[in-house]
Amino acid sequence: MTAPHDHRRLGRALGLFGTDPLIGAGLPYWLPDGATVRHALEEYIRAEERRASYRHVYSPVLGKRELYEISGHWSHYSDDMFPPLDLDGEQIVLRPGLCPHHALIFRSRSRSHRELPYRMAELGGMYRFELSGVLGGLNRVRAIQLNDAHVFCTLEQAADEARGALEMIRRAHRALGITPARYRLSLPGPGGKYVAAPELWRRSTALLTEVLEHSGLPYEPAEGEAAFYGPKIDVQVADGAGRESTLSTVQIDFHQPERFALHYIGADGARHRPVMVHRSVIGSVERAVAHLVERTGGAFPPWLAPTQLVALPVSDAELPHAEALVRRCTELGLRADVAAPDRGSLGARIRTARLVPYQAVLGPRETSAGLVALRLRDGRRLAPRPTDELLARLVARAAAHGPELWSDV
Ligand SMILES: [Zn+2]
Repeated sequence: MTAPHDHRRLGRALGLFGTDPLIGAGLPYWLPDGATVRHALEEYIRAEERRASYRHVYSPVLGKRELYEISGHWSHYSDDMFPPLDLDGEQIVLRPGLCPHHALIFRSRSRSHRELPYRMAELGGMYRFELSGVLGGLNRVRAIQLNDAHVFCTLEQAADEARGALEMIRRAHRALGITPARYRLSLPGPGGKYVAAPELWRRSTALLTEVLEHSGLPYEPAEGEAAFYGPKIDVQVADGAGRESTLSTVQIDFHQPERFALHYIGADGARHRPVMVHRSVIGSVERAVAHLVERTGGAFPPWLAPTQLVALPVSDAELPHAEALVRRCTELGLRADVAAPDRGSLGARIRTARLVPYQAVLGPRETSAGLVALRLRDGRRLAPRPTDELLARLVARAAAHGPELWSDV
């Protein structure tokens, strides 16, 4: 891997995140610019989920050992879990996933078939006991913030829900400028890692295969990559060195509804078992940001950039205009900053701000005419425009959540 693509080095250089041996391996903290990127990403995901009628919940990152014995994590996944904490004679576990909590929320009251599909989403914490040898940066961490959701639905609705989730994933990848390396149908392999229920595996694999076939996307089956409770569609991305990791995923699960005895009341008045569709649009925020940093070198899409506009006064005479421009940006919800002349020559300040999507150079001519001449990060220069007209265009670009810097339509 070439140095400019190493997200660990760039994360420090760009002030996005860091680690400290006193906090521990695999437990990064987010610096203000990194936290800004993460907020923008999380807000985008929540807004997309609201549009797709997901309901958001919060649930704790801990649960009793018994909960994971029921879900099957304890017998199939405990190698990846932290050891339990002994508290007042009870064993409490840092959760290895959000599914069991969501299953309990679903069954917290009686559910009618009219409520289905019930789409429950949470950007929540989970923990994985990664070996310290593979830790570093944001790619392999022990504390994970997962963009997760579980759709509780009828068997007839499951394929549509999986299709909808796949469509949401593809839209998010377009917004982020991410090109998947491949789509993978992850199947069980040999060994005792998987719950034994051949008929359920066959049904869920058939459903996911149908979804992939209908999507027209090329995909490859991969044995030994399934979740312990069911097969999944994994959207793989590659880093600068070609190493693949899973970013997004859609899974169909008959196992956990069974284990938690979930049910809904059907139109016939009888109890029926729902299906659980697990899906993650961007995976964990850690891995998504690591991938974006490696792919863009820190030149984030304009809606995600920590600083979206930098105001560059040519001399001290234009400094008040630059400060007024930044105030106007802030009022409009754009993230902007002044790079004042005391930070160096105009050329040096433009170089320092090379990752900022929009660079507004303010000279005597523009300020006296009430105009702003914009340079784009890619080197393009736009004709001077009235400030409010220009900022309205930038606000609209950010709201469109596209990877492009500018659009003339
Ligand atoms: Zn899940």
